Amino acid sequence: MHELEIAQEIVAIVNDHAAGARVTRVLIEVGKLAAVLPESLRFCFEVCVEGTSIEGARLDILESPGLARCRGCGAEVVLDQPAGLCACGGADLELLSGRQLQLKEIEVI
Ligand SMILES: [Zn+2]
Repeated sequence: MHELEIAQEIVAIVNDHAAGARVTRVLIEVGKLAAVLPESLRFCFEVCVEGTSIEGARLDILESPGLARCRGCGAEVVLDQPAGLCACGGADLELLSGRQLQLKEIEVI
């Protein structure tokens, strides 16, 4: 239950930031290569916020694509999965982003 641990951590951070205020919206950025299922994370989030000041808040998940640079030709390659091919045929890719999992915004009343 990878997603449950992540959801617990997010809820703990949001609770800290909110300091008792009612949270109405939480925005999380999840990279496509972070190995996290957004729907599963959403479900775990709903479970974790029960009884907290975040209960009822809207969870928005921003899925950002993976990005890598080809070591062969220097071109940037958009990835939907950890491995991929550059348009030049090269498979030697340096991962630039896509593994991030970040709390981006919290809205409180
Ligand atoms: Zn290339």
